[in-house]
Amino acid sequence: MELDSIECVSSSDGIDDDDASAHLAHSFVKQGVSAAAVGGGGGGSGNGGGGAGPAIHPANSVHELLECPVCTNSMYPPIHQCQNGHTLCSTCKSRVNNRCPTCRQELGDIRCLALEKVAESLELPCKYYTLGCPEIFPYYSKLKHEAQCSFRPYNCPYAGSECSAVGDIPVLVTHLRDDHKVDMHTGCTFNHRYVKSNPREVENATWMLTVFHCFGQYFCLHFEAFQLGMAPVYMAFLRFMGDEAEARNYSYSLEVGANGRKMIWEGTPRSIRDSHRKVRDSHDGLIIQRNMALFFSGGDRKELKLRVTGRIWKEQPNPDNGVCIPNLCS
Ligand SMILES: [Zn+2]
Ligand SMILES: [Zn+2]
Ligand SMILES: [Zn+2]
Ligand SMILES: [Zn+2]
Repeated sequence: MELDSIECVSSSDGIDDDDASAHLAHSFVKQGVSAAAVGGGGGGSGNGGGGAGPAIHPANSVHELLECPVCTNSMYPPIHQCQNGHTLCSTCKSRVNNRCPTCRQELGDIRCLALEKVAESLELPCKYYTLGCPEIFPYYSKLKHEAQCSFRPYNCPYAGSECSAVGDIPVLVTHLRDDHKVDMHTGCTFNHRYVKSNPREVENATWMLTVFHCFGQYFCLHFEAFQLGMAPVYMAFLRFMGDEAEARNYSYSLEVGANGRKMIWEGTPRSIRDSHRKVRDSHDGLIIQRNMALFFSGGDRKELKLRVTGRIWKEQPNPDNGVCIPNLCS
């Protein structure tokens, strides 16, 4: 029942705590294998192994066999061995300068196929099982699943600085409010004024973020200045704090104007799974040339005073709107 057809999805952005998760997986295998032997290959993921995987009872020794003696992470194919049979993982192999770390003999290029088979036969929990994911997979399906697991944590959507905070949506909302002092609004319409006393400064423009809470969801409204080719522009766009699939249930509009002119943008919020930069660089939002922005600001055009109004609404569920607009997905 996995829908693997979403084209606009970014490859997993960053968060790679592989070492930590490998240890998690380890400890789960210890308990997990014996549990699986009792439960009889259930799991319902319907993946590959089909329950025919050998129930390996001495779980501890299998676990130890598959532990890389160098880095202690679990080994997965390709698993290497030296001429004396000492095994090590492929990551370590690439680091040890062709010397077996155990016996110092030349390493060569020998695979340990038997152990690879054992490794492939083991089913492991998704590395986000502590975050609630119940799935268990053979190794390769597991990697594929983890890149798209809906339980994987989100990165902090704040754009102004390199922020390494990760977490689920409630955690990030609190983090945005408390640590980034982001403005929080409730409601599905907004009316925002962006004032900037020196609109000539585009390079180090402040990034503005406002969080909206409506329909039981959170949305990030970004406003920023950047250099688009040679032209300084302002851009506003909305991101959804949740997954891509859910983001498509919503639409939003943005309006900016003055003096009888108006620009309107209508779009689908992008998930915060897509980095702020990726959305910006795909121009998926309301883009206002600086001259136009200054015209909208009125006055002597020395100060930026943009009033951006907007609305968020919920779309009727529609199975067809996973459509990928090519030039927005680069
Ligand atoms: Zn290793
Ligand atoms: Zn050796
Ligand atoms: Zn998962
Ligand atoms: Zn942050």
